[in-house]
This record gives sequence, structure tokens and C-alpha cells, in this order.
Amino acid sequence: MGKQINVALIGNPNTGKTSVFNALTGLNQKVGNYPGITVEKKEGVCKLPRGLKAHIIDLPGTYSLNASSLDESVVIELLLNKNDKDYPDVAVVITDVENLKRNLLVYTQIKDLEIPTILVVNMSDRMAYKGISLDISHLEEQLKTKIALVSTRKNKGIDNLKNLISNYKTLSSEPCLDTRDIDTAYFEGLKKAFPNQSLYKLWLVITQDVNFGKVDRKTIADTSAFKTKSETDLKRLQQKETIKRYQFINNVLKKGQSIDLKSAKDLRIKLDRVLTHKVWGYLIFFIILLTIFQAIYDWAEVPMDFIDSAFASLSEWTKNTLPAGAFTNLLAEGVISGLGGIVIFIPQIAFLFLFISVLEESGYMSRVVFLMDRIMRRFGLSGKSVVPLISGTACAIPAIMATRNIENWKERLITILVTPFTTCSARLPVYLIIISLVIPQGRFLGLSYQALTLMLLYLIGFGAAVGSAYLLNKFMKMKSKSFFVVEMPNYKLPLFKNVALTVLEKTKSFVFGAGKIILAISIVLWFLASYGPGEEFNNAEEIVTEQYASQNLSQEELDQKVASHKLEHSFIGIVGRAIEPAIRPLGYDWKIGIAIVSSFAAREVFVGTLATIYSVGSDEEVTIKNRMAAEVNPILGGPLFNLASGISLLLFYAFAMQCMSTLAIVKRETNTWKWPMFQLVTMTAFAYIVALIAYQLLK
Ligand code: GDP
Ligand code: MG
Repeated sequence: MGKQINVALIGNPNTGKTSVFNALTGLNQKVGNYPGITVEKKEGVCKLPRGLKAHIIDLPGTYSLNASSLDESVVIELLLNKNDKDYPDVAVVITDVENLKRNLLVYTQIKDLEIPTILVVNMSDRMAYKGISLDISHLEEQLKTKIALVSTRKNKGIDNLKNLISNYKTLSSEPCLDTRDIDTAYFEGLKKAFPNQSLYKLWLVITQDVNFGKVDRKTIADTSAFKTKSETDLKRLQQKETIKRYQFINNVLKKGQSIDLKSAKDLRIKLDRVLTHKVWGYLIFFIILLTIFQAIYDWAEVPMDFIDSAFASLSEWTKNTLPAGAFTNLLAEGVISGLGGIVIFIPQIAFLFLFISVLEESGYMSRVVFLMDRIMRRFGLSGKSVVPLISGTACAIPAIMATRNIENWKERLITILVTPFTTCSARLPVYLIIISLVIPQGRFLGLSYQALTLMLLYLIGFGAAVGSAYLLNKFMKMKSKSFFVVEMPNYKLPLFKNVALTVLEKTKSFVFGAGKIILAISIVLWFLASYGPGEEFNNAEEIVTEQYASQNLSQEELDQKVASHKLEHSFIGIVGRAIEPAIRPLGYDWKIGIAIVSSFAAREVFVGTLATIYSVGSDEEVTIKNRMAAEVNPILGGPLFNLASGISLLLFYAFAMQCMSTLAIVKRETNTWKWPMFQLVTMTAFAYIVALIAYQLLK
């Protein structure tokens, strides 16, 4: 039996490694696990020309040798350990012809480890379709390797690959880049301290905290022959390394690859260039956001006003038509106003998701993810955190579930912790009603102050999320390394059907998910507000009549006094007044206190709660907004909802952790109560302090 050589298949996910593996080994393969971890290990045997045999391993997909996941560390550990029985005699790097630039990054790293390497350019069947042509000999020369142009789908190029493998001894093991170029002084020092080691290996040991041979990170740090670097400096050098690699790759591809500009991809390339541009990209994203928020305001206003008055008349009609009594009151004041509090937000939620799903469907959202990665990185987040943060504008619950595709645990945990700061649709009702009460109607450069305020609140939400991520990243001690790549789908016209389904589904889930809670709580609150213990509540009429006997009040005025006296001594009034001392410095009265307390079940009940509270005992047909506007501050006089208390309230709702369902999902995703409790306490405390400062400054 001839000698068996070791061949490792390496490459980005989805480049066709497994397909190449299957083509090489056929049925001669077995699947197991790497010792001690749940990463799948696929091995097989391939017969080569001249009686040679190759032992082939299909390594887990990896974007680079900067490990960010368990899968990727398997690859590095193997490539650094010459004593591993699987250490490759030859590395076969698989790339996808459509994504050569990105796929070549890991190739250059492996070359720099001075391992004999063959480059497979797979999916060659796609070249004609995409208008791609390659100058193979130029690429071979520049990349210092042999190239096999392969299509596993068309079964082409496999024999050539087998030939190249059997001639592995003639492969060059010259590196692609000179590691010293990253930072000359530093690497010269390193070379002096370890003259017999490969520089790039040493660099991986330092940055990845892995071992090879007798060298580990600590022995390098203990060697005083050169100055060691701080973590941040190392990170910076790592970034510099990646940039250098891409510069190298770009240069090679400039001559080695040409793409027919008349093909369909041309438009995509031009669009990408603008949409992910360092300046235009952000500007366009910002303008799109601004347009969306303006549209939510202007377009949704008509249906909302209609819904608001329709429910007010319905409530009035019910009261006048049905026989007076507890049941009629429950219907008119509990159920109908509760329902109104849900339905009124459907137009805005529908518009928001109309836009979000169009952005997603068109392929633009992935560009946003790519664009934002540059920024997110600085805050300990990943570009992939943008998706949860943006989905958080709907609801934190699906958003937190969406963090599952962030490989790095620390980045994922931070994303989970900060996502509830983004403005979810449950806050929208609160924001909208308060804004319409306290922010003036005027316009600035064609944009209404109210729309700008809403936009600002969204930005504050993102700001709080990103700012706290930065702090968490600084103070949480956790090993973390990550390298980010997004799949960019082609641009396409959004399918009307998909968009419509998304809008429908989100609206439905708001109505039947959050809506159920809103309605239930509205009814409970109506009950708590309509009944109370003891003399003060039950004999309210006599007490009030007696109290105002000397003043000549009209019957109507007297009725109102009775109603408010009753409310104050109802069950809910008791709770609200109990917390009043704590919230008075924020500019709130006990009625707002009640709304805040019930908001811990779900924020969106805020409006419904106030609606219920204010409608109790009131006879006229009035809208929720009018009722709130008419409220008077019991101590200072003047409207209760003024600029100071309004802003204070907006900020409180922006920051406080007021959602039981979110806490439950965080517990599920982190597997401990520690993190949800952490969120509850820190976010609410922060909200209180900010609201306090805002009110004290503005009043
Ligand atoms: P891996 O993740 O690198 O192991 O990639 P797979 O072997 O699982 O292949 C990823 C996808 O690319 C699959 O959908 C394959 O069908 C497809 N694929 C693999 N090789 C080719 C090829 O030569 N041409 C085309 N068009 N598709 C291919
Ligand atoms: Mg695979």
C-alpha cells in the first residue's frame, strides 16, 4: 500500500466544500465528531493517480483564521499543530467563483502559514451566466499556487484536482503577504525573539490565544526582547492585516478576473457602490428613515382620527341604547374603549412594516447590515446586531430571538441586553399621544415638529442601545473574537404578495398578541377604577354634595366632582396614590402613576389605562386625546400634560424596562434570571433618573 497523504478542504461556508469532498471520496467517507465538541468531522479516502491515496477531511466552513466560533477554532487548531495526525500535507482551499474576493481572504492566511496549498475555484458553471472570466495563469502566478477550475454540479475539473493533489510536492509554500508589513518594528522584534518560528504562526498564537508546539501566548508575552502590545493595539493590527489582505486580493483580481459590465450584475455593482458608500450610504439610509417616519405621521393621520371618533361614538351609542347598569358600563367604558386603544394603532404599525418589508424584500436591508457593521464593531456589536435592533422597532421578542444567528456569544448577549432600548411598537402609542399633546403643530423645513420628535425618540432608543452596548463591551469580561461577512442577495423588486403578507402578519400579531393583553388589562383596570373599598368610595355622592353644599355648583359640575372623588378612592386610585410621592418629582400625578404601574405588564396599555380612567364618570362624547388635554395638574394648576411632564414621560418610556414578555424571552435565551433582572433594574433606574432630570430642568 502506498503512502496516504493528508488533504484538508478549507473554505467559506457554501462554497461547495462538501460537494468537492463528495466528488473526491464518493462512498468512502465517514462522519464523526471532533473529540469533546459537537462539531461534525467528515473524513474520507480518495484514490489518486499512480497508486497514491489521500485521506481527506472536510473542515467546517470558515471565513478567516480569526476564530469567532467553535467551528472555526477547529480549523486553526489543526493548522497550527504539526503533530496532529490530520495535519495536512496539502490544503485545498475551495472558493466560489462568484465570491472570489471574499473567499480568498482565508486562502491568503493559509498560504502565509506556509502550508502547500491548492486553490479550487468552484461553481465554474456559473461563470458564463454571470459574465465572469478568469486569467488562470495570471492568478496562479500572483497567488503562488495551482488552480483547479471546478464545477461539482457539472462534474468538471475533479480529475485535474486529483492530479494537482498527487503532485503536491511541487507546490510552492511561499507566503502571499509579508507579515512584517503589518507593523515592521513589532514583527522584527518578534522575529528576533523567535528566530526559528514562522512569523504568521506566532501572530495567530498572539491574536487567537491558541498554542502551537511549545509556544503559547504567555511565553511570547514573557519574552522581553520586544515590546508587547495591548489588546486594543492588537485588534487594530488585526484590522490592518485584513485591510492589507484585501488590498492584495483586489490587486490580484484587477487583472486576473474580469466581469462583463453589460451583464445583469453590473447594475448591482453600481448600486452597491453607492448604497454601501462611506458617506452616501449613511446619508441614503438616513433619508430613507426620515421619509418613513414622516409618512407614518402624515398618511396614518386620517384613518387614526376616523377610528378614534368612531370608537367614541360607539361607546356613546352603547350607553344610550342599552339599559343603564354595570354591564352596559363594562361594555361602553371597559371593552369598547379598550378595543379602540388597540385598533387606533393599526394604521401606523401597518405603514411601518410596509416600509420595513419593502426594504428587506428589495435586498437593501443586507446593505444596511453591511454598512452598519463598520459602526457596530466599535460598540461591541456585530453588523448582524442591526437586524435585531431594527426588528426591535416592531417588538423586542422576535428581535431577541433573531440574535440567534450571531455566532459570538458576547456580541449576542450584548445585543440581547440592549435590544429592549429600541423603540418597539408598544411604545409608539404612548409616544404618539404624548407628542400630539405637548409638541406644537408647526413645521420646520417642511417637516412637522411632531414627526421630528418621533424620529428623535427612535434615535434616542438606538443611541441608548448602542451606548449601553459600548459600556457592556467594556465592562464584561468575556473572550471574544469575530469577523463579519454578510451574504448580499441580488436586488429585486419586492413581491407585492410577500410585502402584503408581512404587513398582515405583523398587524395581526400586534392585535392578537399585544392586543389581547391590552384588552384584558383595560377591562381589569376598568373594574379596579369602577369599584373601591370603604366609605369614601361607596358614599362618594353624599360626601361630595355635603362638601360643596355652600358653593352653588351645577348638577354637571357636581357629577364630575363625584366621579373624580370616586376614582381617587377606587382600588386603582389607592395604588396610584401610594406611588405618587415617588413620581411627583417627575411631573406625574397618581393617574399617570396608575398607567405606569399597569405598563409593566405591557407598555401599550398606557393609553388604554388613561382612556379608561378618564372616561369613568364622564358623560360627554370626547376622544382620549381631548380628555388628556383637559387634565389639570392638581398642585401647580395648568395642563397636567405640558412640555416638561410630557418630555419626562417620553423619556421614561424610552428607557424603562416595562415588558414582562421581554423579560421572559431574555430568561429563555440566556438561560438565567440574572440578565432579565439586570435589565429590569438598570433600565428602570436609568429611566427614572433621566425623566427626573428632564422634568426638573424644563418645568
Ligand atoms: P459547503 O457549505 O462549502 O460544504 O458547500 P456545499 O457543498 O454544501 O454546497 C453549497 C451549495 O452550493 C449547494 O447548494 C450546492 O448545490 C451548490 N454547489 C456546489 N457546487 C456547485 C457547483 O459547482 N455549481 C453550482 N452552480 N452550485 C454548486
Ligand atoms: Mg459543508
